[in-house]
Amino acid sequence: MATATAEALSDAARAFVSGGPHRLLIGPDWTEAADGRTFETIDPATGEPICDVAHAGPEDVDRAVRAATAAFEGKWGTMPAAGRSILMNKLADLIEEHAGELAEIESLDNGKPVKMAARVDLPGAIDHLRYYAGWPTKIEGETIPVSWPNVFVYTRKEPVGVCGQIIPWNFPLLMAAWKIAPALAAGCTVVLKPAEQTPLSAIRLGQLIQEAGFPEGVVNVITGDGETGAALVDHPGVQKVAFTGSTAVGREIGAKAGRMLKRVTLELGGKSANIILPDADIEKAIKGSFQGIYFNTGQACDAGSRLFVHRDQFDDVVSGLAARAEKARVGPGLDPETQFGPLVSQEQFERVMSYIRSGEEEGAERVVGGNGDGLFVRPTLFTGVRDDMRIAREEIFGPVLVAMPYDDLEEVARRANASEYGLAAGVWTRDVGNAHRLAAMLKAGSIYVNVWGPSDPAAPFGGYKASGIGREMGHANLDAYLEVKTVWTGLG
Ligand code: NAP
Ligand code: MG
Repeated sequence: MATATAEALSDAARAFVSGGPHRLLIGPDWTEAADGRTFETIDPATGEPICDVAHAGPEDVDRAVRAATAAFEGKWGTMPAAGRSILMNKLADLIEEHAGELAEIESLDNGKPVKMAARVDLPGAIDHLRYYAGWPTKIEGETIPVSWPNVFVYTRKEPVGVCGQIIPWNFPLLMAAWKIAPALAAGCTVVLKPAEQTPLSAIRLGQLIQEAGFPEGVVNVITGDGETGAALVDHPGVQKVAFTGSTAVGREIGAKAGRMLKRVTLELGGKSANIILPDADIEKAIKGSFQGIYFNTGQACDAGSRLFVHRDQFDDVVSGLAARAEKARVGPGLDPETQFGPLVSQEQFERVMSYIRSGEEEGAERVVGGNGDGLFVRPTLFTGVRDDMRIAREEIFGPVLVAMPYDDLEEVARRANASEYGLAAGVWTRDVGNAHRLAAMLKAGSIYVNVWGPSDPAAPFGGYKASGIGREMGHANLDAYLEVKTVWTGLG
């Protein structure tokens, strides 16, 4: 760990980071990978290694799935519903108790501002566990009034079984909570695979899961890379796969799940359209649109990355956004002054910079930003963009916004929908009629009116089209971890 970084950490975070070895949680044990492999996790603010982490291979995936199966068939499977609630609430309490430390670990590993991790990621993870902790005692079957004489029919909701959960690097702990909470509420067991760029908060979460008193094997944490994830998807002992990440990998996982007939939910990419109508509160729209794209350095699946502004307001909105972008404080996440941290990795940095170059090559005008130093890219804004340019069509997953003028409502709805993605869309207006007309017309899983990107564990979230299958959050995601069994009894 670089000395400057070490100095910025609290004793608790430093003790965790330098206190390794950072191993795999399989059943009750923290173990090395069977072949002894490890990898380095990197601090994106400095490019320096933070520490070594165990790299799970197929043998470790198999051990983890066996541990999850034993827990499902054993103590966890027979635990009363209220017992699951108690443990989930205990875990939420422990995360809250260690929130400061976890925010620092997240900032160090991912690069995000520590203040933002403390304000967004940690409360989100805690709320998620508490929301789903309320569910186990409310999972009910039904009695069905069939048209047969002398039979009694009812349904039972049963947990799907062992779940392979694969998460990305942009909100590592929050994504872990989004995944494990509904699975545990339903009574499933879990093998969790965090992203190779950000393994640390999942390891700390594993320690807290043990401290909370979950039976061994209920949650297993295996760090590694894409091959580790693929081995988890392929394992015949995994009944359900839950994935958040790129559309390319999502397609691959969906295809495999289809062949093996595994249950699957996919929360994938986006290229979300954000529409400012002529009657909007322009200052509010500029502020919200700025946060909507640059929040988390643009590394958010529902980033509002395509901005449509009515031609009459276009220049004002562009100059308002550019003024904010110029003032943005970009820096290391552990610096309390930082508004936007670095990109997560060298690979992501190069990907974002190559999109910026492609925008320039295709003839768009870069109004502001674009420059990169280390892994830092300043908020970037393009105008002169055609709908068919790569920067207007493909998910960049970085702080790059394209702004495009439009003339009327039908036109903007059609252009907004002309995307392979459909995760979110936004409308800024004072006109209730137009707000809800567009809310109905836009093909996306979440519509934000005069706000961008709020989230609550009770409100379903997920994608139309190539943005995914299924929904996170709410009872929709609980159902994704349950099978419905119909029981017929002859009474005559
Ligand atoms: P990714 O490859 O889809 O990674 C997401 C997770 O899937 C990681 O845990 C990854 O492991 C794992 N994985 C990779 N290949 C796999 C495979 N064949 N089978 C099973 N699991 C596999 O995403 P990325 O490469 O980190 O980022 C690339 C792009 O994905 C971004 O630029 C962005 O466009 C998009 N993305 C979207 C979201 C979202 O929230 N929707 C989040 C992150 C990224 P390793 O990381 O350890 O290899
Ligand atoms: Mg890292």
